[in-house]
Amino acid sequence: MRGNRVVVVGAGFSGLAAALALAGAGCAVHLLEARDRVGGRTLSRPLPDGGWLDLGAQWIGPTQDRMYALVAAHGLATFPSPARGAPTLRWAGQRLAEAPAPVAAVLDTLDGLAARLDPAAPWRAAEAAEWDRTTLGGWLAATAPDPVTARYAGRLLAGGLLAASPDEVSLLQMLFYLCSGGGTGILLGMAGGAQQDRIVGGPAALAERLAAALPAGCLRLGAPVERIAQDDGGVRVHAGGAAYRADAVVVAVAPALAGRIRYDPPLPALRDGLTQRMPMGAAIKVHALYPEPFWRADGRSGVATADDGPVTETVDNSLPGSPRGVLTAFSYGAEARELRRMAPDARRAALLEALVALVGPAAARPDDLVEYDWSADPWTRGCFCGMLPPGSWRDYGPELRRPVGGVHWAGTETASRWSGYLEGAVAAGERAAAEVLNDLR
Ligand SMILES: Cc1cc2nc3c(=O)[nH]c(=O)nc-3n(C[C@H](O)[C@H](O)[C@H](O)COP(=O)(O)OP(=O)(O)OC[C@H]3O[C@@H](n4cnc5c(N)ncnc54)[C@H](O)[C@@H]3O)c2cc1C
Repeated sequence: MRGNRVVVVGAGFSGLAAALALAGAGCAVHLLEARDRVGGRTLSRPLPDGGWLDLGAQWIGPTQDRMYALVAAHGLATFPSPARGAPTLRWAGQRLAEAPAPVAAVLDTLDGLAARLDPAAPWRAAEAAEWDRTTLGGWLAATAPDPVTARYAGRLLAGGLLAASPDEVSLLQMLFYLCSGGGTGILLGMAGGAQQDRIVGGPAALAERLAAALPAGCLRLGAPVERIAQDDGGVRVHAGGAAYRADAVVVAVAPALAGRIRYDPPLPALRDGLTQRMPMGAAIKVHALYPEPFWRADGRSGVATADDGPVTETVDNSLPGSPRGVLTAFSYGAEARELRRMAPDARRAALLEALVALVGPAAARPDDLVEYDWSADPWTRGCFCGMLPPGSWRDYGPELRRPVGGVHWAGTETASRWSGYLEGAVAAGERAAAEVLNDLR
């Protein structure tokens, strides 16, 4: 592959994985990143008394083999999420020990439907058209035995997995996501599930190590790609006042961001249409810092879920060996947008009121509340990931990975396994790199 030039757009986990694979195969690689840092949707904030907060992605879990391998290969380690104590569940204004049986029945039904999909081509399922025009909210309203079960399951699934409201998500999109990650048990679980482990220093530390493993001069920060032109001579990528000639390019950004780059000639209509209709989710992830994890004294795990209110779930994010208590709260979809519309004081009051309802009165007095607004970040524009809205999968799903000339598509949204996750991002980067190498050969 020596002598072949490839440009990779975006230094998140997907772009880093693609660049490493291409450079490893002997290509001359330019990795162009808009921000002044690598890691994309991962970001760590150091705490003054030691430790850190993961403001973006934080967990990895079983079957995410690429991520565990990268952690080990780059000299980092994982530690388990705290697993002591009982979870809390707010259900129709009451506190329950566990979810009522109908919730498990609904999740089982969804897992059964998801098992019928091929995650590489969900649009091919026999029921794809019907599932694509049905919203998750509508399906739950018709299937769950009561409105609280429908609301609770909708918040956990559409919110907790896609950072959306149940009426924004098609049943097909939900089933694809469940199939892609291995089902509700794995996706919603802590120990044994996708929330099992964290990385010492956070995934952002791993992204920096991946970047350090690239050949010298390969990475350019502060280089937003504005235009990608193709002609018989190859590809020309324009970024930050410079132009890069290449034989191929891997665009490793979410479709919503890829659609903001100018293409010359313009993209085929269906690919352009995909980028017009794959919005990012809306999540608020806020860390409440306390002198100690006070909930543990009551035998509580800090893992809480609620059928109502601005906060859908909380987790204990305290670090091992640190006396400090960190309770991390998540708000999704319509509730997250409602919180964003509030003035800062009103938002803080609404969040603390919700935390008090979930973990007790001591939650009212945190030392600090720390969050990062991914929706307002021009290089992410929402989180956790992009998704295809109702009615879109069958026409636009096939465009997710279809190359356009020398332009190849990566990013976690293009993954068939663990789509939306760090693991999916890495897999997608490696898949796009393999496509490019195959073409160049
Ligand atoms: C709050 C939050 C919590 C999450 N929790 C988890 C979790 O616990 N576990 C998990 O596995 N996943 C989690 N995720 C999802 C995970 O972060 C993403 O799946 C993953 O980081 C996506 O990687 P990516 O490389 O595909 O995209 P990105 O990380 O978005 O990387 C794309 C890169 O491209 C750059 N870019 C964009 N446009 C341009 C341009 N025009 N020119 C140049 N560069 C450009 C961006 O700056 C960015 O660095 C979470 C995400 C968020 C935000």
